Amino acid sequence: MAATVIDGKAFAAKVRGQVAEHVERLKADHGITPGLAVVLVGEDPASEVYVRSKGKMTVEVGMKSVEHKLDADTSEADLLALIDQLNNDPEIHGILVQLPLPKHLDEDLVINSLDPAKDVDGFHISNVGLLGTGQKSMVPCTPLGCLMMLRDHHGSISGMNAVVVGRSNIVGKPMAQLLLGDSCTVTIAHSRTKDLPEVVRGADIVVAAVGRPEMVQGDWIKPGATVIDVGINRIERDGKKKLVGDADYESCAKVAGAITPVPGGVGPMTIACLLANTLTACCRANGIEEPEGLTA
Ligand code: NDP
Repeated sequence: MAATVIDGKAFAAKVRGQVAEHVERLKADHGITPGLAVVLVGEDPASEVYVRSKGKMTVEVGMKSVEHKLDADTSEADLLALIDQLNNDPEIHGILVQLPLPKHLDEDLVINSLDPAKDVDGFHISNVGLLGTGQKSMVPCTPLGCLMMLRDHHGSISGMNAVVVGRSNIVGKPMAQLLLGDSCTVTIAHSRTKDLPEVVRGADIVVAAVGRPEMVQGDWIKPGATVIDVGINRIERDGKKKLVGDADYESCAKVAGAITPVPGGVGPMTIACLLANTLTACCRANGIEEPEGLTA
């Protein structure tokens, strides 16, 4: 039987709708408008596209959107001064520094200079530690989106075997922490894992976050398993440009019970979760009960 396609585009639209409703209520009941500031240094074309669509969707859910575009040769001191200003701005509840930064800037230093309560990407060392110890934190957007889709599809994922392929700080590791938080039995695989296909065959849930086009094959998948494909790879096939994931969709969809497509799966959930995180940050900053279902 063909796999159920988990429609991330539709689910993300639903999440953004929920965020918009809460924003409306925050304005009406408390006179507060959540604000998100995005900082872009340099002129990376892909980053510019992301920043533009983040700004558009922020406004669409009724939030205040602020963009700071800095020259590629901006000094670390100037960038840190801007972050300090945003940290102290009461109208800004979320700050996102678009990565990657130009080489002369120390990414760890910059991210760790954010107020952790406004770190809507969840990359600040305090948030990483809070997530790792199961405490309330800001959760990285992409893994949060994956978790929301898994909860929505399965109800409970408690006790399931999950294999996360990839151990990056922005996807693989926080994903594994979130799955552990929901009581999965978690394996993290990476480039040194021995017999990766066999490891993946033991999974009820496979999260592919490798950055290698169509690497995870259908014959690696346990029949009925759920495949969450985080990958975004631009390839050229038969003379046409194409976006593909880290799992081979065609072969995996024949065996899996459910699968996220690329595009239209994890991707749209990432921005929806950024907006959800900004709302959560705003509620926490103002001592207002945060909405259910929009955080880990
Ligand atoms: P990284 O390059 O930072 O990490 C890739 C991971 O995959 C590493 O841990 C690496 O292992 C592992 N890996 C690489 N090759 C192999 C292999 N042959 N076998 C097993 N493991 C391997 O990537 P990211 O985590 O940043 O991104 C992963 C994917 O997700 C990319 O396709 C990216 O475009 C996409 N992405 C999508 C987002 C979205 O919004 N949908 C957001 C962020 C990323 P090792 O550590 O040993 O080197």
